[in-house]
Order: sequence, then C-alpha cells, then structure tokens
Amino acid sequence: MAKLSLIFLFAIVFLQASAAFADALEDPPKDLKVNAQRLERRIAELAEFGMNPHGGLDRVAFSDADIQGRKYLVSLMKKAALDVYIDAAGNIIGRREGRGSDLPPIMFGSHADTVPDGGKYDGALGVIGAIECAQVLHENSIRTNHPLEVVVFTDEEGGLVGSRAMTGTLTPDALEVKSHSGKTVRQGIIDIGGHPERLDEVAREKGDIEAFVEIHIEQGKILETKGVDIGVVEGIVGINWWDVSIEGFANHAGTTPMDMRQDSLLAAAHLIIAVNRVVTSIPGSQVGTVGRIKAEPGAPNVIPGKVAMSLELRDLSEEKIKSLFAQIEKEAQAIAQQTNTEIIFSAIDATAIPAPTDTRIRNYIYESAKELGLSTLFMPSGAGHDAQDMAKIAPTGMIFIPSVGGISHSPKEYSRPEDITNGVNVLLRTILKIDKSSTDRTS
Ligand SMILES: [Zn+2]
Repeated sequence: MAKLSLIFLFAIVFLQASAAFADALEDPPKDLKVNAQRLERRIAELAEFGMNPHGGLDRVAFSDADIQGRKYLVSLMKKAALDVYIDAAGNIIGRREGRGSDLPPIMFGSHADTVPDGGKYDGALGVIGAIECAQVLHENSIRTNHPLEVVVFTDEEGGLVGSRAMTGTLTPDALEVKSHSGKTVRQGIIDIGGHPERLDEVAREKGDIEAFVEIHIEQGKILETKGVDIGVVEGIVGINWWDVSIEGFANHAGTTPMDMRQDSLLAAAHLIIAVNRVVTSIPGSQVGTVGRIKAEPGAPNVIPGKVAMSLELRDLSEEKIKSLFAQIEKEAQAIAQQTNTEIIFSAIDATAIPAPTDTRIRNYIYESAKELGLSTLFMPSGAGHDAQDMAKIAPTGMIFIPSVGGISHSPKEYSRPEDITNGVNVLLRTILKIDKSSTDRTS
C-alpha cells in the first residue's frame, strides 16, 4: 500500500514537472519574424520629430523635439502592451512580465536623442527595433521566462547620461553640464519627467539585469565594404588621450643654419609619422590619431619653438594600448635627441576603458544570424554607446548593421530597410536564446 502511494506520488511529481517543461519556451518558432514595413514606417515617423529643412535631425536631448519624440515612443510601447514608466534619470522603460516572477529582466534598447544635424538611424534603430521585438512577442502570445525591459536611454549624445545613471556612475558634476539643448542636464531631466535628486533609485547592481542587448548602425564602412550583413560587436574600444608638448627653440628662420636648429614642428612631423608606423606595425583593429596641432609662435620667418599636439589611441585591449604607447614614447625619445628638442606626454584623465561584450551573447548573435542565413563579422565598436556602461553591470551584447558609405552623425546617414529588418530579426532571436539558456542554467 505504501509502495503504491509512493508510485502515485512519483507520478504526480513527474506530471507536474513535464507540465512545467511544456509551459517553458522551446526553441523560438522558426518562422517568427519582425514586421519590416512597420519598422521602416516607424523609423520614418520618429524622424519627423526634429527634422530640419535639409533633412538632418535636431532632436538633441531635452529639446522640444526630443520631448515629442519620446511621447511617440511611449505610445508605441503601449501598443506593444508594455508597462511604461519614466525612471528618475528620465530613461523610458517599457516592461513585459515573464513567467518567472523573481528572474532578473533581459533589457534591450538604445537612445532617441541625436547630435545637432544628425541622422535618422543612430539610436532610433535601437529603440524602434527593441519595441518591434516586444510587439512581435505580444502579437504571437510568446511569454518569456524572464521579464523584458525595453529602454530608451536619456541623453546618450551628451555623455551617456541615462546609462551612466543606471550603472551608478553619473557624477553630480555631470548634472550641471550644459547640454546641446542649452539646458543643464539637471533641468533637462526634470523637463522629461525625471527626478535628478533621486538618481540613486535608478542605479542597478550586478545581477539585477540578466543581460543587455543593443542594436545600432555601425557608423563606419567596414560591413558595407566587406559585404557583411551583421556585425557581432566584440566590445567598445577603450580611448586614451595624451597632450603632447614639444619644446625646441624659436629663432630666426634666415640666420639659423639647418644643422643648428631646435625645430619643434619638425620633431612633431617625425612623431606623427612614428605614431602611424607603430599603430600599423601589428595586425589588429587598433587605431591611433594625432588630430590637433599648434605651432608657436606661428610665423613664416620663425623656427617653431613650441608645439602642442594631441595623441589618441583606441583598442579593445588596455594592454595593447599600453604597449603601443610605450613604443611611441620610445620613438619620441629618439626623435627628441635627433632634433635637439624635448617631448613630453601628459595623459588626460577623461578616457574610456575598453568594454568587452559577453562571449555567450556574442555567440547567440552569431547563431541567430546564421539561422537566418546572414553573414557575420566579429568586430570592435570604435564609437561609444550606452552598451559600454551597461557592460559594467550586466552581460552585454551588441549588434551592428551596415551604414551606407559609413556616414553617421550627418543628414546623409542611411541604412537599407533589408539590413534593418535583418538586424532586428537577429535581436529578437538573441533575446529568446538568452531567455531560454539562462533559464536552463538556473533550473
Ligand atoms: Zn548612437
């Protein structure tokens, strides 16, 4: 009798377990696709907010156009049955509950603000694409295990304001910065419905977010040049800046023979070439730039006695940046000796550290693209994004689609509708893969 009830008990447990299993999301339906026409239409509709007479977008953060554009995005989120709220930093968050009430959310989105005279796709693709994914899940009655949060970050172009607040790294000084709109960031946040005095409520800790995924235009021309559909972003590069000062001796350009000069601009010329040689001496995607130079006293008949110039190095690896800089410093010493000048490098504090993406999510992006028959390229992002901050607190992934001509931050910015649809389909599948796998991991 006892044996029989034990078997009965086992049977009940087994039935419940298999019911729960059937309830959980299996592989995403093979034919689940986003709506290409709706994506295209909504990107065009969002572009109506802030469009200037020559087709550029002046939807800078906190401007009237930004406030109107945000209202439009809230209306789209509601159509996708998301629960919408504005957090204290002004980020718009649209939430969709999952089956697992205590699981952390999977977050995806981007920003809706533009640079002055910017384009229609930078940021916009990421928010319209994220809302589209939520809408498709709603329309197909697919309930994920994790809650989903679609996010529109505040003032990305002015210094990653919303994502920094979410990672707890927005400094009080940043609130007093005058934004492109002419308002301080503090006033701007108030005007979009946030509460700058309550920013501590916005900060999330490691573990609070299951994963963050952002889709964005590449803003460069690597994908287009190589004819690749999808960029799997390996990380957002670190950026290091130095002020370089070169001390020579200003003297008469007519009476000082060539072998008796201390020409600081000649030293600078050698150094610029050396930077290029060092950076290109090894394989990889590292870049190095001298973008600013000033010679003094700056007269045709005076040997330049002083040069102030910049040096910038970017790469995914901090180690590589350090090693490149060490080689440049060494070359600089030789140039200084040869030109009888002094070359001094001063590192500038406000530089970004590399933010690698999560290898697991990179793989989901790669697999999703492959399932859709799309080609992929693993690549770094040379530009900054909200994802670089989010990577500090959550496993992060980033999807790039081609930018025609590599043009961005310009009215000429353009991405083809088919590339947009491909990218958002990859985003949708990636979210479902994260949801499925991390539920498998926890169960
Ligand atoms: Zn952007």
